[in-house]
Amino acid sequence: MTVWRLKCEVCGSEREINVGFNLYEFKRVYIYCRNCKSNTLHVVLGHKE
Ligand SMILES: [Zn+2]
Repeated sequence: MTVWRLKCEVCGSEREINVGFNLYEFKRVYIYCRNCKSNTLHVVLGHKE
């Protein structure tokens, strides 16, 4: 599992998610933002080892 840092394109808030696949292949992912309270596009900022 890898911890990924994502940034919401709508509100700019950052969050971390734990997934087992490489998000660099997607560049952007559509997931839930707690700030926007809806699914929004998130930019992949990077990952933690
Ligand atoms: Zn947001």
